[in-house]
Amino acid sequence: MTVYFVASEAFPFVKTGGLADVAGSLPRYLQKSGVNISVILPCYAQIDQKRFELDNTGLEVAVRPGDPETCFRVLSCRYREIRFYFLHNESLFFREEIYGDYADNGLRFGLFSHAAIMLAEKIGKPDIWHLNDWHTALIPYLLIKKYGHDSKTVLTIHNLGYQGVFSKKIVDELGLLWEDFTLDCMEFYGRINFLKTGIAMADRITTVSPTYAEEMQTEALGANLNGHISAHAHKLTGILNGLDSEEWNPESDSHLDSHFGLDTYENKKLIKKNIILELGLKNPEKPLFVFIGRFVSQKGIAFITETFKLLQQIGFNMAIIGEGAFRYRDFFAKLLTTYENVYVYLGYEESLSRKLYAASDFLLMPSLYEPCGLNQIIAMRYGSVPIVRKTGGLNDTVADFEAIDQEFSGPRGLGIVFEGLEVDSFLVAVMRALMLYGMKDEFDRVVKFNMTREFSWQDSAKKYISEYNHLKG
Ligand code: ADP
Repeated sequence: MTVYFVASEAFPFVKTGGLADVAGSLPRYLQKSGVNISVILPCYAQIDQKRFELDNTGLEVAVRPGDPETCFRVLSCRYREIRFYFLHNESLFFREEIYGDYADNGLRFGLFSHAAIMLAEKIGKPDIWHLNDWHTALIPYLLIKKYGHDSKTVLTIHNLGYQGVFSKKIVDELGLLWEDFTLDCMEFYGRINFLKTGIAMADRITTVSPTYAEEMQTEALGANLNGHISAHAHKLTGILNGLDSEEWNPESDSHLDSHFGLDTYENKKLIKKNIILELGLKNPEKPLFVFIGRFVSQKGIAFITETFKLLQQIGFNMAIIGEGAFRYRDFFAKLLTTYENVYVYLGYEESLSRKLYAASDFLLMPSLYEPCGLNQIIAMRYGSVPIVRKTGGLNDTVADFEAIDQEFSGPRGLGIVFEGLEVDSFLVAVMRALMLYGMKDEFDRVVKFNMTREFSWQDSAKKYISEYNHLKG
């Protein structure tokens, strides 16, 4: 079976969040199970062509949905057994940011979607197209309505908060059909919605956790698409993301100066001590809390900003690393200059993030919603106890630590779990974390329990393959 996996980012080439982790690892697990898979990405300026030895295939695709023709050169490389194709057009994808707030984002990813199909016309059509998020969600529509291909399609929704909504003038620019600018296909409050179109046209829809598959059908978390999703619920499945256990391994992570596993767990304490010194924090015996992620309201950052003064009184170290909304960057930048027990790094920094997973005692992840979330899974693997709100993938991967002696089903570890939206619930969770930290034996037991949990892709890859098989008939 041949599958083309099309995404807007993939680790290690280019990454802003969890989608890149998935696109950089799931294909390898699918291939190991016998699927012949290639990954198609835009070629951004941020991709290090030398380091990854991208070759020019000599192929070119010319897309002419509207009037001017847009050409893409096709670059390619093999990375860890997988064939990657990069569609190269400088004026569309050589920008300061990979997504950014660019007025032509709809056109950029719409043309990329056309080009991916044109590439298939040159190198061979797959049995299945596996598409990811709004950036590639027009492909099911284009395959049927513009190109007349009969390949099957699976669309994975990694985050319903981002739908690709643009002015309807793009209908002409992308050569779409006005007859499909309807309420049950493209139209969304007078504009075009790429993700909505993909949901209408894909043969199967998956999302990244079973709980989120339910939540996205509710008014509270359905981001105005709950009705549309419910109408297509017969095509929808929630498949939990896995973790690339070779890439994320505290026993061998190349970003760490020293390593640890269950038998060498004491090294984790050493790593913590070193990082506390390195970052200019004090008192390594105090618990180290970290926040690693995008500064967007989805991540529940307001829980931290609103309670910070109170939290200050309880004595701990905190390291925050992330980038995003100005109001949060500004808040954290001020903390850095005000408090000596707070370290803040504004930006994306892979190496530091891994050191913080390894060094920390607790990961703060109080998300308002979380389709799957990888941070909490990485944290558990690296011996950091996640403090999570009970939602989406956090609900499917983290059980409250008080359940340690109960029977476990599925790939869950332990953390501090809270419900509700009141800051008090978050404060109680932090207090419970401190209490756990004070009970050294119990704390170590929770950490070690988490480090033995299996969060690998194996089971989830099987579920994707059964989706593919079902479609292939
Ligand atoms: P999302 O995709 O919503 O951003 P996930 O939890 O699914 O969240 O995945 C986040 C991924 O991005 C994790 O691998 C996390 O370690 C990484 N990450 C997020 N922010 C940063 C940052 N500032 N520096 C380094 N890694 C980051």
